[in-house]
Amino acid sequence: MQAGTTVVAVSARPALLLSIDFEDWHQLVHRRLGLPDWDRPYEALERETHALLDLLDELRASATFFLLGMTVAHHRELVTEIVRRGHEPACHGYAHARVYEQTPEEFRADVVRAAEVVEEATGRRPIAYRAPAFSINRRTPWAYDVLAELGFRCDSSQYDSPRIPDRIGAMPDQPYRLELADTDLWEFPVATWGPLPIGGGSYWRLLPARMIEAGLREFAVLYFHPYEFDSQPLRAELPPKVTRQLRLTAARLGTWRNAGRALVASRLRRVARTYRLVSYDQAYDDIHRLYGARTRALSPEGVLV
Ligand SMILES: [Zn+2]
Repeated sequence: MQAGTTVVAVSARPALLLSIDFEDWHQLVHRRLGLPDWDRPYEALERETHALLDLLDELRASATFFLLGMTVAHHRELVTEIVRRGHEPACHGYAHARVYEQTPEEFRADVVRAAEVVEEATGRRPIAYRAPAFSINRRTPWAYDVLAELGFRCDSSQYDSPRIPDRIGAMPDQPYRLELADTDLWEFPVATWGPLPIGGGSYWRLLPARMIEAGLREFAVLYFHPYEFDSQPLRAELPPKVTRQLRLTAARLGTWRNAGRALVASRLRRVARTYRLVSYDQAYDDIHRLYGARTRALSPEGVLV
C-alpha cells in the first residue's frame, strides 16, 4: 500500500461524538447514601481522569466534557488539565439534580451557577449542556427555553432509553435542530440502535461489542464517566458505624457499576480503529451542513414533530 493511500483512509474515517460526564462517583454515591461528609473531594477522581486523558491521547481523540459544577469546585486543577489537553468544556449543571425534580427557576439557578464555575475554571463559556441522568423529559419542555436564553447552542440530554421516565417521543437518532419560540437549539442525542440504547452506560458495558459496533453511525454520541476508567474497583468507603441496610445498598451500587467496566477502554480502542472520536465543537460545522436544513418542534404532548 502506498503511503498516500493510508493517509486518505485515515482522514476518511467517519466521526463519532465523544462525551464525558465529569463527576465524582464517590461523592454522588455518598450523597445518595445520606452520609454527612459526602461533599468532600475523593482522590479516585484524579486517578480516573488521568487514565481517561491518557487513553484519549493514545487514540488521538477529543471529547466534550460535561463538567459538574460541584465537582469542578473541588478539582479545578483537573479541569484545567482537561482543557489544556484539547477537550471542550461543557455544562452538566451544578448539583446533579434531575431537571424534572426542579422548578424552572431552580433549574435556571443551577445552570447559571454551573456555567459560571466552568467559565471561571476554564476561561471558556460552555455552549453545550447535558442534564443529569438525561432528565429533560415531557414534563420539562421549558428547560430548552431556559438553555437557549442562557446562551447555550446545543443540548445533549436525550437518550431514548427505557430507564428514563416520560422521555420525549419520536426522538431521532441523529442530530437535529429544535425549533423554539425565539431561536433554535441543536440536540445531539445519545446513540441508539432501534430500541437499544448503545451510547454508553450499562448497555455499552454489557451488550456484545459486535452489537454496539453494528449500530454506530456517523455523529452518533457516545458517553462515559471517569469512573469507568479507574484501575481499581469502585467501592464506597463507609464509616465504621453504618446500618446493615446502608452497607447492602452501597454494595449493590458498586456491583452494578463494576459489571463489565473493564471492557470500556478496550471497546473504545476497537471503535477508534473505525471512527474518529471528536468533540462537539469540532463537529458543529459539519453537522450544521448535513442536518441544518430541517428543524423539529416539540408538541404539547412532548412528541417531536
Ligand atoms: Zn451525571
